[in-house]
Amino acid sequence: MTIAGIRRGDMARGASAAIALAVTAAALASCGGASHAPVDRPVGVTHQAARPVPGAAGVEPSAIRRPAAESGKVDPSITRHSEDGGKTVNLTLDDGPNPVWTPRFLDLLEKHKAKAVFCVLGPAAKANPELLGRIVDAGHRLCDHSVHHDTAMDKKPVDYQTQEILDAKDMIDQASGGRRIWYYRAPGGAFTPESRQVAADHGMRPLGWNVDPSDYQRPGVDTIVTRVQEQLAKGPTVLMHDGGGDREQSFQALEKLLTWFDEQGYHYSFPQA
Ligand SMILES: [Zn+2]
Repeated sequence: MTIAGIRRGDMARGASAAIALAVTAAALASCGGASHAPVDRPVGVTHQAARPVPGAAGVEPSAIRRPAAESGKVDPSITRHSEDGGKTVNLTLDDGPNPVWTPRFLDLLEKHKAKAVFCVLGPAAKANPELLGRIVDAGHRLCDHSVHHDTAMDKKPVDYQTQEILDAKDMIDQASGGRRIWYYRAPGGAFTPESRQVAADHGMRPLGWNVDPSDYQRPGVDTIVTRVQEQLAKGPTVLMHDGGGDREQSFQALEKLLTWFDEQGYHYSFPQA
């Protein structure tokens, strides 16, 4: 599961903080084109996100990192299993919050009494604090999805990875008023052992998935629905998107899926934290 990540993490070690800061100054990558290759899949096959622009200026060094309040209490391995027993599904929605789409998804989830994990980007959280409030007040859970959605961050220095994770955490903390951030999901699954440990040290369990219908590619509503139904045999955690572009297909597919989950007797759970 993590062999490739360990190798890439080793490669990243030793690079200078100066490089990390330069790389961090990249423009915000488009999430709509970013793929979410599972950790088990070779990285580079499907990653299509815009690469950061080395040498860009204007980003201040990160603030001093505060130690984790619950250091050592969170498992740094990637979670995919449900915290509840029985016939469960764990919905996870990435790349928001988005002022157009996220409210529609929240309304839809409420209609079905369904729960989800919202993997939010730091800048999007900062721009939409009221949506973060809606998310947590409805009983959903927050997940740190980095600042720049750099799906190649696993190939970059640990300092850079740390900054991506903790800068986003700071933005989410401020936007949500300090509500718990349960998980960290690397963009495109670009985890390393070091980034998983950073997340865990700050109370966030690394979050993977079992089911990936590639809804961000807009393959058609019925295709998304069928892929989810077929891939659920692999496990309960479903990756879909409420941000990063036009999410009409994702929305319509989830609408059909929620009806189907209800008919099939699924219970909405969360990944083990
Ligand atoms: Zn994403």
